[in-house]
Amino acid sequence: MSDQTPALVVDGLYKRYGDVEAVNGLSFSARRGTVLGLLGPNGAGKTTTVQIISTLLPFDRGTVTVLGKDVVRDARALRSEIGLTGQYTALDEYLTGYENLEMIGQLYHLSGADAKRRAHELLAEFDLVEAGKRLVKTYSGGMRRRLDLAASLIVRPALLILDEPTTGLDPHSRQTVWQLVRDLVARGTSLLLTTQYLEEAEELADDIVVIDGGTVVAQGTPDSLKTQVGGARLEVHLAPDSKATVALEALERFSTASAELNADTGVITVPAIKEPRLLAKVIRELDDLEIGVEDVRLREPTLDEVFLTLTGKNAVPAERVEPVEPQKA
Ligand code: ATP
Repeated sequence: MSDQTPALVVDGLYKRYGDVEAVNGLSFSARRGTVLGLLGPNGAGKTTTVQIISTLLPFDRGTVTVLGKDVVRDARALRSEIGLTGQYTALDEYLTGYENLEMIGQLYHLSGADAKRRAHELLAEFDLVEAGKRLVKTYSGGMRRRLDLAASLIVRPALLILDEPTTGLDPHSRQTVWQLVRDLVARGTSLLLTTQYLEEAEELADDIVVIDGGTVVAQGTPDSLKTQVGGARLEVHLAPDSKATVALEALERFSTASAELNADTGVITVPAIKEPRLLAKVIRELDDLEIGVEDVRLREPTLDEVFLTLTGKNAVPAERVEPVEPQKA
């Protein structure tokens, strides 16, 4: 395998469950040593794709290769090169953190001594040395996710798949997981990340593939996606007591889409049609209509806006997520 071999190539992949085409002609690839973000609304086919790549699920047509090896023909060899952490952690509640890691090492056929050594190393690396002595059922959501991530690294996978690694975590635990992910990539691991949080993709992913209905609807770096799909956004911050309805109508004349008012912040946002001296024209128009404004600016679209344009659906805003409650014994 040369350094140029992609971490992952998915080519013309199809998977049907009864009448549902869960994956419908999917093709994309991931470069080695980078993070590929796989984004899509609920039901887009992310989990199905991830299970196929992990050699865990048969499919109907197409090919998938990981580090040059075929997921069907070379499934046995690949199992020790692919790490998978899922949305629902597969940890034994009635074992300690240490015992879980040791057991998984043995499942991967490490010798008894190697399984013990690897368990100790990973607990230290993931700041779980003390917690490692306690039963997993006493862990908080963030601790479980860290232990799950540690478990997926027992055999030092060349491709690590993180399926929604921070779903339900509080902001602090999410930051911790992000830092662990950055450290892994810095050490050369290739990563496939599925997430519902665009903020997470923006933070971690070098490249993004957006899928919907089991097929790719856009791909590129976070910045190139914004340029391809988004176009600039015009943002007008109204002064208190300004005539919002008149302002909305006026701003729509500079756009192909309807303007949106955030009633809490008094900010109107609209996709802008590019034209010379746009800001000056907007300010003059609002001034003529005697609409008070505090700020007018042109900005890049956010990844959320790109996602909405592509899929017609909103992604999940990270701050609206309920943290997972710690489970006590
Ligand atoms: P989510 O973000 O909700 O997990 P997803 O993008 O991971 O969604 P998948 O779970 O891969 O999507 O599902 C793709 C489609 O296949 C959906 O329509 C889903 O209902 C369907 N599907 C998934 N698993 C099965 C199954 N075992 N039997 C029947 N249909 C399934």
